[in-house]
Amino acid sequence: MNVIPAIPFALPTIEQTDIAAVTDALRRGWLTRGPGVERFEQAFAAYTRSERALAVNSCTAALHLALAALDVGEGDEVIVSTLTFVSAANVVAHLGAKPVFVDVEPDTLNPDPAAIERAITPYTRVIMPVHYAGHPCDLDAIHAIAGGLPVVEDAAHAVGARYHDAPIGGLSTVACFSFYPTKNMTTAEGGMATTNDAGLDERMRRLSLHGMDRGAWARYGPGGSAFYEIDEAGYKYNMTDPQAALGLSQLARLDAWNARRAAIAARYHSGLADVPALRLPVARRDVSPVWHLYPVRVHLERLDCDRNHIVAELRQAGIGTSVHFIPVHTQPYYQRTFGGAWGDCPVAEAAFHELISLPIYPRLEDAQVDYVIETLRAVLARHEKKTVAASPP
Ligand SMILES: *Cc1c(COP(=O)(O)O)cnc(C)c1O
Repeated sequence: MNVIPAIPFALPTIEQTDIAAVTDALRRGWLTRGPGVERFEQAFAAYTRSERALAVNSCTAALHLALAALDVGEGDEVIVSTLTFVSAANVVAHLGAKPVFVDVEPDTLNPDPAAIERAITPYTRVIMPVHYAGHPCDLDAIHAIAGGLPVVEDAAHAVGARYHDAPIGGLSTVACFSFYPTKNMTTAEGGMATTNDAGLDERMRRLSLHGMDRGAWARYGPGGSAFYEIDEAGYKYNMTDPQAALGLSQLARLDAWNARRAAIAARYHSGLADVPALRLPVARRDVSPVWHLYPVRVHLERLDCDRNHIVAELRQAGIGTSVHFIPVHTQPYYQRTFGGAWGDCPVAEAAFHELISLPIYPRLEDAQVDYVIETLRAVLARHEKKTVAASPP
């Protein structure tokens, strides 16, 4: 059963230029946060058309810093999509606040603006939407509902995506990106918080390095001085120069890679559109998604088995897949601590039982995409419920 899939679910793209960039950074010999991180931050701010960008060691850290810098704490509520990665809710819990989970739109599986509106209470401090699979969520609607409330985007899937014609990154209070190995670009581990609010950037920056007013480069670099001041107890969330070198090198090819992802998505669309047992992901006209994921849904009422069985047969055929996501409100910790229960978010829960994320990454070749299409078609055809013919042939 433990066959290593011939087509893994996800693979990072590491090319010779990336290796050269990291090797150069190692030769320069400055290993923690230094001028390399600053270069990456400036390039990323320019790329996302945001005023400021803060590089950190994960998207989870960026989300945590954003909420901490917005003074989220005990008694506060933060609105989170239930169909997302659990770290978005964990950081709310870390701050002693309550994640309020909302259901998703049936087509994009992004957080439903109407559900967000219903979830707002006098205790709501922040709205934290996700761009599911790299498809930008309905930011106009969410900003309108938010009124004066800060919006912190979980943009882990959305690096390079556009909403109308603007890149994701400079559109809300803060946007948080992930450079985890499976994401659209990687720094091995890493993340970025972008904002147009200089004060917020300064506070997140301090909190990312113990609460110090000056980092190691300012203390030990040219003209440095050993002293620093702590204004509040911060975290240890900084990125390192070798990681930033990898990030800068990856950023240069991100648009080409995202174009390749879009081409793979188009190939899946045309190869699978006529399969009655499948529901394919959508792309709204006013956005440019970056296809971090290609999540299909199986119509269970048409099948004689469950989703896990389809996944197992794909794996037997050498195809790795995943499921995005287990609705966070149903996780034991969130049920126990915040009273989440099955039935709270019916759209996300139904989708969870149907979802299969197919392989999609720049290194995937057309022939491999075609093999996934053919195999999935054959597996689903085998499990179509036999219906009694309405009339004899
Ligand atoms: C990957 C991911 C994260 C966490 O990113 P890290 O960089 O691993 O901390 C957060 N949210 C979503 C939606 C993700 O997919």
